Amino acid sequence: MEYSATCKCGDIKIIASFPSSIEEYQARECDCDFCISHGLAYLSDVNGTIAFSPKSHMNQLKQGSEQATFWQCSRCKQVVVVTSTKNGETRGAVSKTVFEKDFSLKASVNVSPKRFSPKDKAERWPTVWSKVISMVSEC
Ligand SMILES: [Zn+2]
Repeated sequence: MEYSATCKCGDIKIIASFPSSIEEYQARECDCDFCISHGLAYLSDVNGTIAFSPKSHMNQLKQGSEQATFWQCSRCKQVVVVTSTKNGETRGAVSKTVFEKDFSLKASVNVSPKRFSPKDKAERWPTVWSKVISMVSEC
C-alpha cells in the first residue's frame, strides 16, 4: 500500500510504501528530549520503503549519538523523516504527525530508546526501519 503526504506547508512530499495498511501500525514514540520537543513518533515497516523530496528544501538535524539524521522542512520546521545509513544502505522511518492528519492511526507505543546503547540502537534500526529510496522528482 502506498501512502503520500506532505509537511505542514506542503513543500516536502513523503511517500511511504508499507506491506500492510498504515492504520495497522503503531508508531514508536521516543522519549528523548529531542523527539519530545518535536512531538515525534515513528512509523516504518522493515519490508516497506520511504521516499521524500526535495532534499534541497530540508535541514538535516543530528542529535544524541549522531547516528541518525532528522530531515526537517526548512520552511515550516516540521521533522518528517529520520534516516540512518549503514554499510551503504539507508533506512528510515516517517514521522507519525505527517500521516495522522489524513489517516486514523493507532496510539503510539513508547520505546524508550534511552535504555539502548548507541551500538544497540544502530543494530536495531535495520530490523524495524524501512528502506529509503530516492524520489525521481528531485528539484
Ligand atoms: Zn514544510
